[in-house]
Amino acid sequence: MGAWVEDIHEEVVDRNPHEPEFHQAVGEVLACIGPVLERYPELVRYKVVQRLCEPDRQIMFRVPWQDDQGEFQINRGFRVEFNNALGPYKGGLRFHPSVYLGIVKFLGFEQIFKNSLTDLGIGGGKGGSDFDSKGKSEGEIMRFCQSYMTELYLHLGERTDVPAGDISVGPREIGYLFGQYKRITNRYETGVITGKDAAIGGTLGRVEATGYGCVYFIEEMLGARGQVVEGKTCTVSGSGNVAIYAIEKLQELGAKVVACSDSRGVIHDEQGIDVQLLKQIKEEKRARISEYAAALDRAQYTGSGNIWETPCDLALPCATQNELHETDANKLAENGCIAVAEGANMPTTPEAVQALGRAGVIFAPGKAANAGGVAVSALEMRQNAGREPWSFGAVDKALRATMKDIHRVCHTTAGEYGLADDYVYGANIAGFLKVSRAMVSQGLV
Ligand code: NDP
Repeated sequence: MGAWVEDIHEEVVDRNPHEPEFHQAVGEVLACIGPVLERYPELVRYKVVQRLCEPDRQIMFRVPWQDDQGEFQINRGFRVEFNNALGPYKGGLRFHPSVYLGIVKFLGFEQIFKNSLTDLGIGGGKGGSDFDSKGKSEGEIMRFCQSYMTELYLHLGERTDVPAGDISVGPREIGYLFGQYKRITNRYETGVITGKDAAIGGTLGRVEATGYGCVYFIEEMLGARGQVVEGKTCTVSGSGNVAIYAIEKLQELGAKVVACSDSRGVIHDEQGIDVQLLKQIKEEKRARISEYAAALDRAQYTGSGNIWETPCDLALPCATQNELHETDANKLAENGCIAVAEGANMPTTPEAVQALGRAGVIFAPGKAANAGGVAVSALEMRQNAGREPWSFGAVDKALRATMKDIHRVCHTTAGEYGLADDYVYGANIAGFLKVSRAMVSQGLV
């Protein structure tokens, strides 16, 4: 089966040139599913794997908008509707200058398996734009979002495709996108996008969900080994939505987060990151993390620092793809790190994942560990459909139960295939099995 899987990977690389992140995401799944295909050879005959690697639909469009100086600006918009075997396409929108088709396809592909693991009836998709929100005014961001939605709305629907946020797309951008959707269609259709503010049909707990969910997954992972989060020293890369709420939950459970970062530098705070100050700087002022050290004497900011050199028990990469390399993995292990859990999507390079495995560091892949965000988005869809908002407590309880369940499924699935304790295998196999069964049952579509 090894050679057959390698041939498919080669075919994917040939058919999708210059998209290394997409090749990497596909490679990771293909490396795990050989034993499944041996057990269920009909999946080979039905060409499930080849069908999964080809998106249902890829939409690329021009996003014209006007800046504050009256200049015309043109960006590129994307939406990749990857696979809807389990439900409507679901996945966030990323606005970042690094966004191109290959990034959107890697994220959309990952999303298929992540959404499958949530067991909440959602397919996989992802979108975004190469728009750089840094330094843009409120008005520029609003005009960009309105222009982006003027094309995107053609493809959305609560039973068709339901986007949400991702890097640089939070409740503010989702609000502008929803407002434009409503204006164009004359429909107050809340179920068409998630991550909304509670005032316009958003769910309580969505902002916290990915970070909290990642920590709930870590709790389960440590619990299975007789350990607890309390008392652990942690490092969390990034200082955006996922990072902030992972830090908040870790510290609520008695851990201490001694470092976090942004794309320019690293903050060290040996007494533990002050989350309220971090929220003020990042959420209210939308400023750079260097301001944290400016506001707090005990903290240090290093412009060129590498967060993974900071000794810790638990490391959570929560910024972006391929941010934790093999040398970082070796350093973490050398410094006594016992577990790495991905809050971001594919932040750990394949070589780093292998290095962690060799060193006996427990590793939780993003498609399992960060599934809490999309799971709560699915709960937002449910609340919108029933026109019945849930309390924060009810959402948090459901999130915790979902993460517990995802951990159990990954753990037992890996065990069933003789790969106990390997969450990468567990997540990929369990996610793949559910979606492939759904595909087979729907015939050749
Ligand atoms: P945010 O935009 O809120 O924050 C992103 C953070 O990552 C910022 O601190 C940013 O720093 C940093 N960052 C971005 N690019 C780089 C880079 N190239 N190098 C170093 N740091 C970088 O995004 P989110 O927190 O929402 O998303 C973070 C990750 O989590 C992404 O991989 C996303 O796909 C994933 N994710 C997010 C979910 C969600 O619900 N939001 C759900 C599941 C996964 P700076 O400000 O300097 O750019």
